[in-house]
Order: sequence, then C-alpha cells, then structure tokens
Amino acid sequence: MSSQPITRPRKLTRARAAELYARLAEARPEPRTELDYVNPFTLVVAVVLSAQATDKGVNRATGPLFQIADTPAKMLALGEAGVAKHIKTVGLWRNKAKNVIALSQQLIDRHGGEVPHDRAALETLPGVGRKTANVVLAEAFGEATIAVDTHVFRVANRTGLAAGETPDAVERQLMKITPAQYLQGAHHWLILHGRYVCVARTPKCLECPVNEICLYRHKTDAQAKVSAKASAKKPAPSGAKARKR
Ligand code: SF4
Repeated sequence: MSSQPITRPRKLTRARAAELYARLAEARPEPRTELDYVNPFTLVVAVVLSAQATDKGVNRATGPLFQIADTPAKMLALGEAGVAKHIKTVGLWRNKAKNVIALSQQLIDRHGGEVPHDRAALETLPGVGRKTANVVLAEAFGEATIAVDTHVFRVANRTGLAAGETPDAVERQLMKITPAQYLQGAHHWLILHGRYVCVARTPKCLECPVNEICLYRHKTDAQAKVSAKASAKKPAPSGAKARKR
C-alpha cells in the first residue's frame, strides 16, 4: 500500500529556542516598539492606526495629532473629522478615525477615561483585537504577552519556534516555548527581526544572527538567489571563454 509522505512542521527544541532568543537579544539589547506614544491612551490609538500601515507612516501622522489630543476627552473634542484630517496619510483612515472616536467615547463612558489593564475590556474597544490588546498589555502594563502580527507569524513559522496556521496557534506555542526571561521582549525581537532581516520575499539569511539555528527549508534558496543576483551583475572576467561540450 502506497502512502503519501507526511511533512511534519519542524520545530526547535527548547534549548535551541533559548539560543535563538539569546542571539536576537544580543543583536538588539533594548527591544522596544517603533511606534511613538506618550501614554497608554496614545499607545492604543497608535496601535489601532498601525493595522496595515507602517510604523513610520503612523508616527508621521500621530506626532501632530498627539500634541493636541493625548487623552480620550481631547480626542472626542477634536471629532471624527478632526481626527480624519490628521490621519489621511494612513491606510484605512476613514474607518480608523471612526474607531478612534468610538474607543475614546467608550474609555470615558466605561473606564473613567483610563485604558483598562484588562484583556477582555481592551478587546471590546472598537478597532482593538487580540493582537492590539497584547501589545498594550505588554508595552503599557509590562505583562508577558506575545502579540502575533504578520512579521512574528512569519519568523515563528520559518525558524521553527512555533509552527501554526493561525496567529492564535502561533501565539499559544510561542508562549510555551519562549523562556521566561525572554517573554517580555519576545514580540519586539521577533517583529524587528521579521521587519529588517527575515523579510517576506527574500530573507537576508546571509546576515542573519540565527542562521545556524533556524529550520527554514528554503534558507539556502534565499541565499542562492542573492548570490545569483550579485554574480549576474558582475562583468565576466576579461579573456574568459565559454566552454563548449
Ligand atoms: S536564516 Fe533566513 S529564514 Fe531563518 S530566520 Fe534568518 S533570515 Fe529568516
């Protein structure tokens, strides 16, 4: 009876996972979000705006916005049109402006204008899902949570830290395999690694500090592509003749 070979996702051992984090930590000793904020409220707003947008683009918009509206009350006073005016350069700005006003109203109505230190309450805020709640819990309240965005998802799956088909599955596995001392910084290390080294199209495996640990099957392909491109650009050495057979 013939049977299809089963391809199991490859996973790092705990010891190798710890080594991977140690190397990422060495490369970036002080991991922090690249989003600018001045208090928990502006952090929530910045993370809501960052969906499908770059942190740099969000920062350009929120710099002037947070100067005039750094509390829910001030944001409400600005109104939806006023918020929209500031964030028009950010993708999905119409919907995001609505959410920023609605979440400001909800913070005032239900939480005395403060950002609640509570996952369930955070997740009821308009525009806030599990990922945003995780970022706020970690960044504003120092909780050990790992928010799984597109970069974290890709890095976790490629390296073998956590093989999962959904962000929730990856988050569960990351929480299990990440050593306690790295939990606080894990989200930032993985996101920054995904943003700058383990990029989506052609990961920079040649310069990757976790290259020998990573289990990505196409690692060498990615390297080969880089090398092939580089050598295609080089002029042929003078006097070189093509061999014929
Ligand atoms: S070796 Fe390549 S695939 Fe693996 S983590 Fe580094 S950049 Fe990503």
